[in-house]
Amino acid sequence: MNAMETMITLKGLRNVIYAMGGLSVCRGNKSIVGEQYEAIDEAIEAVEKTIPQKVKRDPFGVECPNCGGRIVLPSTYTFGGKMINIRCDYCYSCGQALDWEEE
Ligand SMILES: [Zn+2]
Repeated sequence: MNAMETMITLKGLRNVIYAMGGLSVCRGNKSIVGEQYEAIDEAIEAVEKTIPQKVKRDPFGVECPNCGGRIVLPSTYTFGGKMINIRCDYCYSCGQALDWEEE
């Protein structure tokens, strides 16, 4: 199962938990339901971050599509006679996987 399929499964599961939550709240289990909502939302958020999102480009550089944090532009250095390409594949602030492909 890839990240996208995992996320679709988790979102389906969330719908089930929400539907069951309605029943559960009627029976007075509000706090347990709240914890389940929180756990499934955190799981979805964690999986979403592993799916690369296109970086947002503006005249000043690029920013993270998830948190809006500034991202260092890819650069090339020469070190010991070798060319080294440096590019952030993840946001330093929130951990979002980044897609650098141009439209
Ligand atoms: Zn970020």
